[in-house]
Amino acid sequence: MTFSKKQISKEQVFEQAKQQKLWAGHLIDHKNLSTATLDNITPIDNSIIGQIASGTSDDVDIAVQIARDSFENGEWRRLAPAERKAIMQRWCALMHEHFEELAALDCVDAGKPITECLNTDMPATIETFEWYAEAADKVFGKVAPTGSAALGLIVQEPIGVVGAVLPWNFPAQMYAWKVAPALIMGNSVIVKPAELTSLSAYRLTELAYEAGVPKSALQMVCGLGENVGAALGQHRDVDMVSFTGSTEVGRLFLQYSAQSNLKEIVLECGGKSPQIVFDDAVLDDAAINDILSAAFWNMSENCSCGSRLLVHSSQKESLLDKLKDGLKEWKVGSPYDVDTAIGPMIEKAHFDKVCHYLQTAKDEGATLVAGGSIREDLGSGWYVEPTIFDNVSADMTLFKEEVFGPLLAVTSFESEDEAVKLANETNFGLAASFYTQNIKRAYRVASAIKAGTVSINGFSEGDITTPFGGYKQSGFGGRDNGLEALSQYTQTKTVWLVN
Ligand code: NAD
Repeated sequence: MTFSKKQISKEQVFEQAKQQKLWAGHLIDHKNLSTATLDNITPIDNSIIGQIASGTSDDVDIAVQIARDSFENGEWRRLAPAERKAIMQRWCALMHEHFEELAALDCVDAGKPITECLNTDMPATIETFEWYAEAADKVFGKVAPTGSAALGLIVQEPIGVVGAVLPWNFPAQMYAWKVAPALIMGNSVIVKPAELTSLSAYRLTELAYEAGVPKSALQMVCGLGENVGAALGQHRDVDMVSFTGSTEVGRLFLQYSAQSNLKEIVLECGGKSPQIVFDDAVLDDAAINDILSAAFWNMSENCSCGSRLLVHSSQKESLLDKLKDGLKEWKVGSPYDVDTAIGPMIEKAHFDKVCHYLQTAKDEGATLVAGGSIREDLGSGWYVEPTIFDNVSADMTLFKEEVFGPLLAVTSFESEDEAVKLANETNFGLAASFYTQNIKRAYRVASAIKAGTVSINGFSEGDITTPFGGYKQSGFGGRDNGLEALSQYTQTKTVWLVN
């Protein structure tokens, strides 16, 4: 379905969001749950907008027991795939009905510009659910080429109890990426949203129940990572955890698994993605727009952010001029304003981290080309201007570490080999984009770059039909999106029927 470009006013954002009381609690059908809460602070103006539940390992134990019982009883798993599809489609219809409210929740909770929530995040969230709902009754097994002695069936069974541990940068969308494929395959899912952004996950789960998803098949436990996330990772009766977040915490999940029941772990982690502008690149408005979007979209709080710009020396001057010019369109301001492109950093601690990288880049000798200021005049004061540093060498911190904030590192090169070497000179490998008119170079470079998604002459993460995930320390164990994502939520069984 296509979505017309939507706008709502600040008053409407508040009105929509407030209807939900700005509360997110555990969604576990049980009486004896913990009652502790955490303040929910909006990064927009640093005010407390509500509370979220702060769960414990006991809450996780209860949720896992319910999920296990549900899985074994088959309340969801044994429904015909077409029945699961019908329920998922009812859920999608409810998401359409509550579209503006869901967008408003992500805006208020994460400080994402409302225009983005309305025109990117929520459409992508619903498209993900619709696509997987449609796929629910189209997943086939295989028959092995056994000859006449036996019939060998290769079947995909749901893996069981799945923990979905989510980041804060695309709250509704990351929920969709995990929950939709896990549910259509018949698993019992326990969602743990990021503690900074639990509101849309709470509302989406409530809508799931309204659509007919059993409460035992989809639950939510709110709270801190070191409590709820760790308890899911360490639980001996959780069969799989699908995690999106930092590489640092991703590593912990591998340890949790090794120390508990060897549960399957799929990690979607951080990045330090290159954008390469070759000497033959056409730097028209569309290219400039895409380079800036790769670098600064979502305040650069984006795992596939193109935070390293590698440019052939012959193009550098003209490119930097065009980028500076293009940046005038990137208004820093309140997420409630429909023309805002850059909102605040998600929280004070993260803002401090970004400021540290800003200072380090200056201290290490990078040349400030654009931006570089903090907008203390705005709301919370956690607003950072989109910033470009030139002359960033491969040994500088800004070249190596994921900032997750709007700092773009520019490095020049002289040859294709040098560009590819620089592009791959990172521990990450999530995404890359490059610009060239040479078709042979396009194929050569796309093959040489070690990243899960490579886009040519534009910035893209692909869409719901294409798998998304990382090489090297950007990921582990599987992919989100596309039909490829389904394999992380299933086990393969051979059924050997002797003639
Ligand atoms: P994070 O790693 O801090 O947190 C992610 C989740 O893990 C949260 O739900 C958090 O509560 C939980 N968690 C934190 N500490 C934990 C612990 N000790 N044990 C168990 N769980 C714990 O990440 P974030 O700051 O929310 O998100 C930003 C990161 O996510 C960036 O590095 C970004 O690149 C990455 N990311 C990756 C993708 C992708 O698809 N590859 C997408 C979005 C974000």
